[in-house]
Amino acid sequence: MSNLLFYNAAILTIDPEYRTYENGFICIQGDRIEAIGPSQAMTDLGDFAAYRKIDCGGKIIMPGMINTHCHMSMMVFRSLADDVPDRLRRYLFPLEARAMNRELAVTGARYAMAELLLGGVTTVYDAYYFEDDIAEAVAASGMRGVLSETVMNTPTPSAAQPYGGIPYTRNFVKKWQGHPRVMPAVNCHALYTNDTEHLRECHRIAADHDVTMCMHVAEMDFEQQKCRDEFGLTPVGYLHQIGILDERFLAAHAINVDDQDIDILADCGVNVSYNAGSNAKSAKGVAPVAKMMAKGIPVSLGTDGPMSGNTIDIVTQLSLVGKIQKLFQNDRSLFPPREILRMATINGAKALRMDHLVGSLERGKRADMVIFETDSVNMSPIYDPSAAIVYSANPSNVWATIVDGEILMENRKLLTLNFESAKQDLLRSCQKIEAIAKTLDREIATHN
Ligand SMILES: [Zn+2]
Repeated sequence: MSNLLFYNAAILTIDPEYRTYENGFICIQGDRIEAIGPSQAMTDLGDFAAYRKIDCGGKIIMPGMINTHCHMSMMVFRSLADDVPDRLRRYLFPLEARAMNRELAVTGARYAMAELLLGGVTTVYDAYYFEDDIAEAVAASGMRGVLSETVMNTPTPSAAQPYGGIPYTRNFVKKWQGHPRVMPAVNCHALYTNDTEHLRECHRIAADHDVTMCMHVAEMDFEQQKCRDEFGLTPVGYLHQIGILDERFLAAHAINVDDQDIDILADCGVNVSYNAGSNAKSAKGVAPVAKMMAKGIPVSLGTDGPMSGNTIDIVTQLSLVGKIQKLFQNDRSLFPPREILRMATINGAKALRMDHLVGSLERGKRADMVIFETDSVNMSPIYDPSAAIVYSANPSNVWATIVDGEILMENRKLLTLNFESAKQDLLRSCQKIEAIAKTLDREIATHN
């Protein structure tokens, strides 16, 4: 690992003061940020003889983006059944039962990591099956990942017995805890796929090992209905009553939450992953993000799986967050670009309980960062770099992605992942999936 000096760049630190340097430098020693500031202060630090020096020529540097809700392996299913109503139960679960296996899970995850790194994501939260194999792939890629095996009340592609995800998770957490970049977590799929006893058991595992526990919360209409009918409560009210909401808890989606739910989430220190694109496409509703943030909940950004939101970079989500939330609240002044960039970076780090390590560019923190080029047609003019990233940029403007001081993507080339082989593996796997998908389409048509 060489020491790196980036200079002549616009830098958005996203530190607590949101310090920005119109013409700045950032000096990286090993995996840490050694110094950061305006370019004219660089000469005070010595001659940097032992550094690789990169003249950024006006590019924009910001902290790496953090995707707090993804199912990477579902890449192999991208663009299937986009418009099927009640797709999860009618299409996805049967498809996974027939098609998903260890090899496909890894194939999908490797390709997904290529897209994440090319789109400036440095940390991903992933929940799926065969997570131990996915963890090996994440470790090899150089990315940072918070990974978890899905727990459900039915057999899954990786577990022959209902709740087989629980023993899997116990071993998985023990094996990966302490890894410098791969952090294990616990994932209960949802309250409609887990009973109270097993939700509590998952919560115990997360507490015993002090790791994140994630769950789809207040996302589905039938979830709301089940809670009302069985417990007379909202999903958040029920999870609170059974005692599993705390500062380790990461609630994905949180669409159907009322004012009382938001108070509970805030009081318990729960973190929320907002999935703007996936929520919109599934027509499930608009999460009341402004209300949640006003109560101090650090709402972060996720994409959901590639079968739900189709793209898994965070750049695409940025402008969606602004546009959907402004429209929802009928207020153009809400969600300025700086707030949206905080959601994509430091709030993601808080959600995954790693904000002491990453999420902002500050001396002593890990060097996880992303560099945007500013030469492409959509990137001029730039009066405000934060606005340019949120509303002008697309993921193909990401020029470099760096994790722990290691450049994983530079000038659109992946340096730790072989994109061509990942793509060939993906395309080969699609042939088998297509045949299964056609059978499912026929079955759904017959039952309509
Ligand atoms: Zn999800």
